[in-house]
Amino acid sequence: MEGGTVSLKEYKEKRDFKKTPEPAGGGANGGAAKQSLLYVIQKHRATQLHYDFRLELHGVLLSWAVPKGPSPDPSVKRLAMRVEDHPLDYASFEGVIPEGEYGGGTVMVWDTGTWEPDGPLSHDPDAALAKGDFKFKLFGKKLHGSWVLVRTRGFGSTADRSWLLIKHRDQYASTRDITADEPRSILTKRLLVDIARDGGGDVEKAATGDPAPAGKSKGKSKVQSNATSKTKSKAKARK
Ligand code: MN
Repeated sequence: MEGGTVSLKEYKEKRDFKKTPEPAGGGANGGAAKQSLLYVIQKHRATQLHYDFRLELHGVLLSWAVPKGPSPDPSVKRLAMRVEDHPLDYASFEGVIPEGEYGGGTVMVWDTGTWEPDGPLSHDPDAALAKGDFKFKLFGKKLHGSWVLVRTRGFGSTADRSWLLIKHRDQYASTRDITADEPRSILTKRLLVDIARDGGGDVEKAATGDPAPAGKSKGKSKVQSNATSKTKSKAKARK
């Protein structure tokens, strides 16, 4: 799967732009030579909560869906499913995709910044992607330093789309549970529930992607509290 503008075909085929507020991606791509490449993570409460990890290359956003989100702990490997390239202007999209449409649910811009290729193939990111060993540095507001996406052997129809997102050891590595610690939009400081409310979306569904409110951790959302306690015990086990 090479980068390039032709690859927006899949993005456009999946969506009805009369019904979704997502960008149609018809505009000019980036324009004149741009020095820095865009990086963004969108937290997306769709059928399943996931984090869409996107890196600009050749005028589009290469995209991976990361169910558990990124971890700054180098011993933690996070599954990342390669999905269709997205248009550059998608990077600032925060809002509600109508239920019944592709990806229906609430979208938050969780982190944003720039990135650059890293490692021995840093002069040729296409070769690194083709090799399935894609190293890069992030200059985000939440995520920093050196990371890698490694293609892995999946099963069946997802075999060629399975990657692992892993933090390299550097001064930004930590065992902090960053998705739990920093649950808010980097653009608007809103939680998913706020974005859903403001956009006329499904508030109850969006809330299940936010941390349980303090003092209300029992009962409100079983899924959320299970996930939180599991993460905590894992973190403890590692120490
Ligand atoms: Mn998504």
